[in-house]
Parts: sequence; structure tokens; C-alpha cells
Amino acid sequence: MEVFAVDGLPEIRPGDDLAALIDANAAIGDDDVVCVASTVVSKAEGRQADLAAFPAGDRARDIAERIAAETDEQKDPRFAQAVLEESEELVLEAPFLLAVTRFGHTTVNAGIDRSNVPDADLLLLPADPTASAERLRAGLDADPAVVVTDTSGRPFRHGQRGVALGWAGIPASRDWRGEHDRDGRELGVTVQSVVDELAGAANLVTGEGAGGTPVAVVRDFAFGEHAGSDELFRDPETDFVRQALREWDY
Ligand code: GDP
Ligand code: MN
Ligand code: MN
Ligand code: MN
Repeated sequence: MEVFAVDGLPEIRPGDDLAALIDANAAIGDDDVVCVASTVVSKAEGRQADLAAFPAGDRARDIAERIAAETDEQKDPRFAQAVLEESEELVLEAPFLLAVTRFGHTTVNAGIDRSNVPDADLLLLPADPTASAERLRAGLDADPAVVVTDTSGRPFRHGQRGVALGWAGIPASRDWRGEHDRDGRELGVTVQSVVDELAGAANLVTGEGAGGTPVAVVRDFAFGEHAGSDELFRDPETDFVRQALREWDY
């Protein structure tokens, strides 16, 4: 398997045809996985926003006050309002905003980004990253898989890593359940989140700063003869960690 970044992409602007720009800068094959940073998907989809578009309500002002009281950070209440509007639910309000986006991804600040965003205060995540991945896939000349990625923190571990937000042309996971280990023991729980692992590999070559390489191509990855699953985001009823955090916060 090989992973390489696509060079030559310009600053992406609202309305840009990202698939055409990728095709103009890389020879994509049917068996490739094209991993695209959500930052540029959002830029092309016009998800730039200014703080002025989010006049703070009471809850956003309370959250900003709480964060200021618990940390050194002066959170703009309008930023808290933007996070609220992009979220299905808040898991934590303070010391930071841990939010579940409307498409099911749980991340700090609902993934709203202030880096690599010229001409606007904020960049919101794509509203429906799997729909974005499907559109990109349809727009590319070849028939590759597409993964829309973001850099995201993880609980229990320092550091951030690439994760998948949306995907098309590939199942989210390899379901190993029912297969056997080397001793013949049947695997009972292992569902390997392949799109996250592809996103992690892609993030290694796209980088986080001024590199200008938001697209990575994974070549010669084989999903293999496994059952597939498209479940990636846990649902609230069976997510015990989320339930425990919610009880602790309020
Ligand atoms: P995120 O992980 O989706 O939040 O994206 P990042 O902000 O970490 O950026 C990932 C990569 O894309 C970095 O190499 C950035 O320099 C690059 N990047 C961000 N925006 C643009 C853009 O509009 N055009 C190009 N060519 N690169 C960009
Ligand atoms: Mn960013
Ligand atoms: Mn991001
Ligand atoms: Mn990143």
C-alpha cells in the first residue's frame, strides 16, 4: 500500500469543483482511496461563516461564562452559539465544548475550525460529509473510494489524528466477527474501522499547517474478503461513555 499527497491544489473557494481540481492534479485509479480534508470540502461548499452570524443566546452566554470561570480561555459567546447550532447535543459544556454533530461525529467545538480559513472567522464542518464524499466520487473521472477526513482529538490519549467523517465506495469497517484467530478461536467483537485508519494514514501526509496538501491518495489498499459495516458513530442509547460524561457534566 502506498500513500501520497496530491500537490498543486490552489486555495479552495466557495463553489470550486473540487473533483475537477483533484483530477487536474492527480491520475486517480478505480482502486484508489481518495482522502480529502474536510477543510477543503467545507471551503468548496461555502461553509465559511462569521461570528456576527451567530448572535449569542442565553445558553451560549452561560457556556462562555462557565468556560471562562473554569479555564483561562475567554470564549466568544458567539462561538459557543455556532457550536450549539452545529450540534445535535453537547456532551460537555466546560472546560471545553464537546459536541455531537448533526451527522453523528463527536468532537471538540463541533469541528469548527479557525485555522487555514482566510476571509472568514470560522469554517464549519460539511453538513453531511457522506453526501459530500458521494458527490466527490461521482465528480471524479475514475471510480475510487472517497473518504472525507478531519483532524480530531481522542479521549484518553494526547494528540490529534485523522478520522473519517464521511465515506463512499467503501464500507466504513471490516467486520471480523465470525472469523478465526490463529488458534481457531472465533472473533466475537472486532470491527475494524477501516475508514478511520485510512484517514489516519492520509493525515500523515497531508499535515496540519501551511503545506497546502489537503488530498491524499491511498493506492493498492485491499479491503479483502471480509464482511463490511457502515456503522461508525455510536448511537447515544448504547454509548456508555457519552452517558457517563453527560451525567458528570450536569
Ligand atoms: P483539516 O484536518 O480538515 O482541519 O484540515 P487542515 O486545516 O489540517 O489542513 C490539511 C491540509 O490541507 C494542510 O496541508 C493545509 O495546508 C491544507 N489546506 C487547507 N486549506 C487548503 C486550501 O484551501 N488549499 C490547499 N491547497 N491546501 C489547503
Ligand atoms: Mn484546520
Ligand atoms: Mn478540521
Ligand atoms: Mn488537519
